[in-house]
Amino acid sequence: MAYDWEKGFVLDFDKETGLSKTAVSTKRLLSQMQGMFADSVAEAELIAKGDPLVYEFYEIGAPEHPGDVAAGASITYPGKVGEEYFMTKGHFHTILDTAEVYYTLSGQGYMLVENPEGDWEAYALEPGKMVYVPKRYAHRSINTGDTPLVTFFAFRGDAGHDYGTIETKGYRKLIVERDGKPTIIDNPKWK
Ligand code: MN
Repeated sequence: MAYDWEKGFVLDFDKETGLSKTAVSTKRLLSQMQGMFADSVAEAELIAKGDPLVYEFYEIGAPEHPGDVAAGASITYPGKVGEEYFMTKGHFHTILDTAEVYYTLSGQGYMLVENPEGDWEAYALEPGKMVYVPKRYAHRSINTGDTPLVTFFAFRGDAGHDYGTIETKGYRKLIVERDGKPTIIDNPKWK
């Protein structure tokens, strides 16, 4: 579908699945995230056993213009790599000074954020609640439940995505399952 950024448009995202009948999502298989999970042995095994879909999201091509708004749904699927829950790659915005909002439609999890100076926070993602990700903070969704974690997001159209910093350095913190509960630990791979 063509989006009319001058006149406006309507787009559908399902409340339970996050999926759109009209827009096309970008999919991230585990093999496209190699090295991002702490347990590389478990990661390789899962890729060999069928390479699961970890998450998908809608990139609807907002104009790279400060007055436009990029928005869509993000769906992180339930699962774990070793003890680490399925998550998105996470990113900073290329224009670091730009914020984002996430409203949870269904599922259960956390939004893990951290800034270049090392301050971090894990905000609960729960249906009916909005998380405000402030400017300068990298952000990653983590599904700690057993159903898809579905959020709706919106940010400034020209903010851009810097995935490279997180792909190279990782996050300072990880969320893993310990004694059946989500637990925040230091990332042993953090550089
Ligand atoms: Mn973002």
